[in-house]
Amino acid sequence: MNPELTPSRSRLALGPLGRFMYDARALSIWDRDTATLPFPYRRLRKRYRAFAREYIAPHALKADADPYSIDVRDLFIKSASRGFQTELLPQPLGTMKFSSLLRSFLLGPVLKAEEFCAACGGLGLSLLAHELGMAPLFVCGDSRAVLRWMWRIYREIKRGEPAIAAFAITEPDAGSDMEETVGAASARLSCRGRKVAGGWRLSGRKCFISDGAVARWVTLFAAPEGRGLESWTCYLLDKSMQGFSVGRTERKMGQRAADASELILEDVFVPDKRVIGPVGAGWAINRNVLNFSRPVVGAIAMGIARGAFEHSVRFCNENRLGNRLLVDFQDVQLALADMMTKLSAMRGLVWQAVRYRFPFQAAGSMAKVFCSDTAWEVCNQAMELLGDHGYLHSQSVEKAARDVRLTQIYEGTNQINRLAIVESQLGAEFKPSYLRETDAP
Ligand SMILES: Cc1cc2nc3c(=O)[nH]c(=O)nc-3n(C[C@H](O)[C@H](O)[C@H](O)COP(=O)(O)OP(=O)(O)OC[C@H]3O[C@@H](n4cnc5c(N)ncnc54)[C@H](O)[C@@H]3O)c2cc1C
Repeated sequence: MNPELTPSRSRLALGPLGRFMYDARALSIWDRDTATLPFPYRRLRKRYRAFAREYIAPHALKADADPYSIDVRDLFIKSASRGFQTELLPQPLGTMKFSSLLRSFLLGPVLKAEEFCAACGGLGLSLLAHELGMAPLFVCGDSRAVLRWMWRIYREIKRGEPAIAAFAITEPDAGSDMEETVGAASARLSCRGRKVAGGWRLSGRKCFISDGAVARWVTLFAAPEGRGLESWTCYLLDKSMQGFSVGRTERKMGQRAADASELILEDVFVPDKRVIGPVGAGWAINRNVLNFSRPVVGAIAMGIARGAFEHSVRFCNENRLGNRLLVDFQDVQLALADMMTKLSAMRGLVWQAVRYRFPFQAAGSMAKVFCSDTAWEVCNQAMELLGDHGYLHSQSVEKAARDVRLTQIYEGTNQINRLAIVESQLGAEFKPSYLRETDAP
């Protein structure tokens, strides 16, 4: 190869202005993307990455092999001490950058999700699920929920307590139905609320609840007997309530460090002041929580895939085939370029989704569907590059493939999210015949 023809050398043939406009610096995509962020977020992204490298990555393989080998509550406290678990409210109530309120509400959460999950999908999920549990208190739009409950939980966290929150909608007979309008109309609900003096009595079961076993607080949804999701109401429960207990914790394929647990309610008394938002507004709260959380799931998928990509780059830089490094083979370079392109496309879509003032249904679902499907492809490509090593637990990429598969399922399967994209744009982009008829003069 003639070095004079490489981008970095050839640009030297230009005058100062030509050289200035020809960016051939040897910078990683991570560094380049970070430089495009508003200033406070550049620092934040670096802090998330430093934390993930120091406190999450070293435990990833062990926590995957034996989820009980690490107490995620300790990790939560460490993360909280850096202000990373109270970021849904601005200072002095929480630790969110004040500019987020004016700019992009979700930029911080997606940057955090990428960095944490690049280190470990399971431990990352465990730390991130807390924000999902807190989200109903915020998106219900009721200042009492913020001042009475969010602030209280944030004060506990700032005191160094593992006041983790979980979000509970899924029930044994209703998963997708809790996330999609058509199925919702005939959802078979088992978790029920009964109005009594001063509050509600809740009974039933929730299942697959991330952080269900370790959470202190749970935002949980239930409807009165005989009523459907149009009467769903959001309640804030805590584990000390009588009749509230944790049932089975699932043995999972991936993201194993985060527990997915069953919650059992046996005539639990919940005072009126623990109703979040208006009675009967649970469905609206749930739908908007999903709008907020799906770009984050996209970022989780992207982060896991980035972890697999970085591992395969290291592997190809260090391992030889015959007497040549793997990275010297052109078809390996093609695969790496392909993976890097997909990662950039995922990040582009996620960052675009959070540029809107508030996330909306199609943007969140597009980010979630595209990233989780594409991240799955990237993890498979990583496994291919490593050959037999790709199949070993010690090499992380088989873990990434297992971890990433879950992002196609939770927060609504990708089929349900595709339906959500269409529903969101009905009238604006898609005009089925029933809408045309109503348009007719
Ligand atoms: C590890 C893990 C963690 C989770 N964490 C949480 C949590 O923290 N909180 C919580 O509340 N829930 C949680 N969930 C639940 C998760 O959101 C649901 O599993 C998910 O929404 C899918 O529901 P389901 O499993 O009941 O699938 P089902 O609804 O039984 O779907 C089965 C299949 O049918 C398809 N399908 C269903 N309806 C349609 C339709 N109308 N059109 C086309 N296809 C359709 C689905 O896409 C899927 O392929 C978690 C799940 C897992 C596995």
